[in-house]
Amino acid sequence: MSETNSVSRRQLLKIGGSASLLAILAQQPATSQNRILETAATKGKGKKVLVVGAGMSGLAAAQSLKSNGFEVLVLEARNRIGGRILTDKDSLGVPIELGASWIHGITGNPLYKITQENGIKTIDCAYESMPQIFQRDGEELKASSVAELKAAFSKLRRRLGKMQNSSMKEDRSLASAIAELIPDLKLSPRDAELIKHVISTDIENDYATNADLLSLQSFDDDESFTGGDYLVPNGYCAIVECLARSLDIRLLQVVKSIDYSGEGVAIVTASGERFAGDFAVVTLPLGVLKKRTVDFAPDLPLSKLQAIEGLAMGIFDKVYLSFKERFWSADYTWIEYAGEHADQWPIFFNLAKFCDKPVLVAFNVGRFAEQLEGQSSENVVSACLSVLRKMYGEKVPAPVATKCTSWGIDPFSLGSYSYVPVGASTALYDALGAAVDEKLFFAGEACNSEHYSSADAAYLTGEKAAQQIMKVSARLKR
Ligand SMILES: Cc1cc2nc3c(=O)[nH]c(=O)nc-3n(C[C@H](O)[C@H](O)[C@H](O)COP(=O)(O)OP(=O)(O)OC[C@H]3O[C@@H](n4cnc5c(N)ncnc54)[C@H](O)[C@@H]3O)c2cc1C
Repeated sequence: MSETNSVSRRQLLKIGGSASLLAILAQQPATSQNRILETAATKGKGKKVLVVGAGMSGLAAAQSLKSNGFEVLVLEARNRIGGRILTDKDSLGVPIELGASWIHGITGNPLYKITQENGIKTIDCAYESMPQIFQRDGEELKASSVAELKAAFSKLRRRLGKMQNSSMKEDRSLASAIAELIPDLKLSPRDAELIKHVISTDIENDYATNADLLSLQSFDDDESFTGGDYLVPNGYCAIVECLARSLDIRLLQVVKSIDYSGEGVAIVTASGERFAGDFAVVTLPLGVLKKRTVDFAPDLPLSKLQAIEGLAMGIFDKVYLSFKERFWSADYTWIEYAGEHADQWPIFFNLAKFCDKPVLVAFNVGRFAEQLEGQSSENVVSACLSVLRKMYGEKVPAPVATKCTSWGIDPFSLGSYSYVPVGASTALYDALGAAVDEKLFFAGEACNSEHYSSADAAYLTGEKAAQQIMKVSARLKR
């Protein structure tokens, strides 16, 4: 697009969108005409933005742009909106979240604000409460032992922080740092084993990957909201539905190419349809960008390609099991299994505590989750049940309904959320989020070094991309 201050009649019609603006302009002196045009440009009148992806970030960007007068078209590959937010209301007879479940931190969190403004119910789920832990022989760990273990883990975390701050020249894996620090904790042989379990539940589970792949330097350096972790019991989808209101969203449009070589942006989808806009917001998940299934012309700048290559996509999968009756304690939010392999079936979320059905949810991440994705749902459920039988004995019945996720092989996600691998840096998130040629703007959970991986991070980047477009549009007056 050319940078120009002159406005043609066609552009005027686009800007004003009505004959009345033309009539007003015709009666104004030149300086005043410019002011009116500038206001119209700032508000986005007549500017068209194509948004690729109808997940949290794409919808946040689209809604913000639309409310500022831009013409917005959202192109989504799937037959639904929400992306990695997916509430399944059918499989178990109670809403279950196959993607994001929690609003992490409510103070200042824009997602929580949406729930409050739209009457969407939320529940504090005692996310940080002490778990019930079963050992590999099925014996339950005493509450006092759980508390001691958690205290030892907190100590370990503080020491990791100190190690990060000491003048470390080269990055190393979180696992190698942990291995070095564990002897200093002077744990009993039993706790030295059990702490591996806590590393799995309290670190690997959050980062959706294994500790030997995580960067020590970048560990824990993102900002997070405070004030508790909340579930949306009737479905997280309600948040994205609010954001999607009155937007023009085209489903089943798999974007294949994004050409920003000429004026504006031209996008072609798998069906051969072509869409043109002044700007585009690209919210393709990191996993999709890595696979390079979408062509950019010209190719993306080196800094962005390095960010795509340098950051990594973790896998976090869930197995939902609905039973006829609850056979586990009603008291705990988290029920854990400290088995022989710390990263296999370490944690169950007691959904029964927050809904009226006896439902347990198993979480697996990283290599083990990837391994399970290669198996049939029947095999996965059967492996899960054999773990539950180690914990509760043979009385564990067959579930009445189940649901397994496999985000790693989902072609429009190719992973669950991003993390910083050994040797990479959090700054890569900003490189991924940087605009290109004042035409392509990037948003998504992996586009901001301060907040990443979460649904709120995705939302914030969508808003940011919209702000960037408004600024550029106002400045270029195009
Ligand atoms: C299992 C799981 C649990 C999670 N738990 C939480 C949690 O509890 N709390 C939390 O805050 N976050 C959680 N997250 C992370 C959160 O869901 C994501 O960070 C967030 O939803 C990502 O939003 P996004 O807009 O960046 O990407 P997406 O939601 O992935 O949106 C991108 C969109 O682009 C579309 N797309 C892909 N390719 C194309 C193409 N070629 N053409 C057109 N469209 C395309 C996709 O279909 C998708 O709709 C979880 C994620 C997973 C998978």
